[in-house]
Amino acid sequence: MPEFSDVAVPVPLDMIFTYRVPSGSSPVVGGRVLVPFRQQRMTGIVVELHDRTPSVTAKNIVGVVDSAPVLDEQLLRLGRWIADYYLAPLGEVFRTMLPLSAEFRRSIGYRITEQGQMALHLAGMAGSSARSQRTPEEQAAEFRVLDYLAGHEAELGGAELVREQTLRAATQASRRILTGMVRKKWIVREDVSGPQVAVRIVKIAILRSAEGKLNDNQRVLVDTLAASGGRLSVEALRSLAVPRTTLGTLVRRGLVEVVEEPAEFTVSRTKPRASPFDFDFNGAQQSALARLRDGVAARKFSGMLLHGVTGSGKTAVYLAAMRAVLEAGRSAILLVPEIGLTPAVAADLHQIFGDEVAILHSALSDRERAEQWHRIKAGEARVVVGTRSAVFAPVSDLALIIVDEEHDSSYKQEETPRYHARDVAVMRAKMAGAVVVLGSATPSLESYFNATKNKYALVELPDRVEQRPLPEVEIVDMRQEFQETGHEQVISRKLAAEINERLERKEQVMVLLNRRGYSPVVLCRTCGKKLECKNCAIALTHHKREHKMVCHYCGYMAAVPKTCVYCGSEYVYFLGTGSEKLEELLHGIFPQARIARLDRDTVRSHEDFERTLNALSEGELDVVVGTQMIAKGHDIHGVTLVGVVGADVALGLPDFRAAERTFQLLTQVAGRAGRGESPGKVILQTYFQDHYAVQYAARHDFVGFYEKELRFRSWMHYPPYSALANVLVRSDKLDEALRWSGTLGKWFESTRHEGVRVLGPATAPIMRLKRDYRYHFVLKSPSREKLNGILRAMLVYAAQQKIPRTQVIVDVDALWLM
Ligand SMILES: [Zn+2]
Ligand SMILES: [Zn+2]
Repeated sequence: MPEFSDVAVPVPLDMIFTYRVPSGSSPVVGGRVLVPFRQQRMTGIVVELHDRTPSVTAKNIVGVVDSAPVLDEQLLRLGRWIADYYLAPLGEVFRTMLPLSAEFRRSIGYRITEQGQMALHLAGMAGSSARSQRTPEEQAAEFRVLDYLAGHEAELGGAELVREQTLRAATQASRRILTGMVRKKWIVREDVSGPQVAVRIVKIAILRSAEGKLNDNQRVLVDTLAASGGRLSVEALRSLAVPRTTLGTLVRRGLVEVVEEPAEFTVSRTKPRASPFDFDFNGAQQSALARLRDGVAARKFSGMLLHGVTGSGKTAVYLAAMRAVLEAGRSAILLVPEIGLTPAVAADLHQIFGDEVAILHSALSDRERAEQWHRIKAGEARVVVGTRSAVFAPVSDLALIIVDEEHDSSYKQEETPRYHARDVAVMRAKMAGAVVVLGSATPSLESYFNATKNKYALVELPDRVEQRPLPEVEIVDMRQEFQETGHEQVISRKLAAEINERLERKEQVMVLLNRRGYSPVVLCRTCGKKLECKNCAIALTHHKREHKMVCHYCGYMAAVPKTCVYCGSEYVYFLGTGSEKLEELLHGIFPQARIARLDRDTVRSHEDFERTLNALSEGELDVVVGTQMIAKGHDIHGVTLVGVVGADVALGLPDFRAAERTFQLLTQVAGRAGRGESPGKVILQTYFQDHYAVQYAARHDFVGFYEKELRFRSWMHYPPYSALANVLVRSDKLDEALRWSGTLGKWFESTRHEGVRVLGPATAPIMRLKRDYRYHFVLKSPSREKLNGILRAMLVYAAQQKIPRTQVIVDVDALWLM
């Protein structure tokens, strides 16, 4: 066994650490080890085993967690690529790739010292010392701690630590008391964190006997158990309409036994259907599928951009291709944006793939995530469907990765490592010799550009299935509406009339307003100030039902003001409209309509979301109002009208992607209309009716928009013509943020960096966020190598200047410059 091991530890430092391998232990490259780091124990990934003696003394590895790699050769390479490309610490990259935090338990232990034994002895003899600063209660608690630890040591003959939880439960000592005792050297605190087996336990009720007299409730329970073969989870029994005590009574009488068992994974265990899912494909779908299958059969890397209009049946193509991969005994990954994973899609997946599909979404607990990971690693699930991090699923023999709605910004992680799952998917496919498919009705500028440059094959699905027409889009100019009606309207006369028509015809309506809350701005007419968040330079939004002012960035809440908090004036005005107010307005205009709202205030979980969508599908709702959540991927056939109320707010933001984002949102939400038998219509209300993003979206003209936007990007040296990075310097102290950004600004000025443009330092558009003051630099270069070179040198310099690594954020390919 080599003497040393290089370990990537999940800490915000751009380096790896060398540890000594103790004799008798055998770590493996790609496996986890437990290592001491500062005062803690952490799990890191072994990246190399060697015999090169390091310049500083190496600490010993504490324990080896895996005897076989959890990251294989390919995933290790992928992790290194991410660390390099996004300038992220390798240990943090690996932590993101492995959803196994449930297998590590943080734990602190305590042991009594000789001084502690002495203190215990003295306390027993003399009672409290007169000079003590401690209250009698504190002294009593300390005595209990010493006594407990001494007793424990006597029983076990020393060495064994007592876990903090156990100690505090037994002695009622606070963390502060323990810390004080550590300082006095009476006790020693040690980190004893380590691996634990992540197995979810379920309680199973087993029917032992049905003899004897039973009351009605008991009878229901016993019959239910008997009907399910004599065993059922206690959780399932709880859903019966009987008191919770009934089960306890049956257990006491010996009729039912409750045992604990490791949970099997909880997806429905439906087998694939005997007559497999039928796809009825049109010509374009068939040829797209054929190209995909050919690509997979070639067993080498290829990329494809599947550009299909909304409703053109992209999902069916994905599912058929994945089934083909599975039948060939290979693996496939389908990435979806968070909300895109609708109940209908999940049901289809189980129907087609049965037990062989693993679904990874954000609502899973850490344990469920770890279980799924092991199922995939063991080869039990060879088809993986999931959000961003599913791109790291440990499948073997990967043949196909599909990125659905590839333009969606949820694929970019907005914390370290700031990777883009679409770009990681392309790299992983390259390393695996697999096919990658990027699909969208509104491809990102970058992907479409790559396709036109032949980096990917461009495959089009130009028509909706069954020749359904794209919806007609009518633009309503809200400035003209204002002139004609004399006041600021939220719902134009045209939109109101069209909604009314749909209600009379028993058809359904969606209305988009991409801003939640009741009123987005509270303004004082006396001093002119807006009510802002305490932690951010952001206006607070009024939420009427909760009767609160809320910051949408940090969650800060304040009371609804009756007078101005700055000057005391009574003239405070609530301005603007959010989705909550829009819902109220619609109720007022159409009192007979059944209206629901979908936004982050009404949707707290997947279930809430599914409930509302199902109600819409079942025809139990007439109108759904919502934020961009309603724009994503749903296929509801009764919706024939989509109203867009102020989706163009983003066009006013200082962000070079504003036009692209607006075009995508308008096209996607328009795509929700007319997916069934009846044709759809879209009413697009706007204050920017001449803007090209609005005009091209109204004409369903992606290529027109793309060419216009591309010219703008080319002039301004923005992606895809330049690689771009945002460097954010932040601190909760204004002078620190200023000093650090000044220091880095001078360094950029004095350093030669041909071919890289550096803008800044400038205050970030949101200059204060979550208490941090923020300054930023924007770097652009046609050469990614040069860009990353200067960023790397900048980080080295920042470290020399003692600027903490966590306060300098490097965001390569940033989606937001706010
Ligand atoms: Zn005021
Ligand atoms: Zn805030």
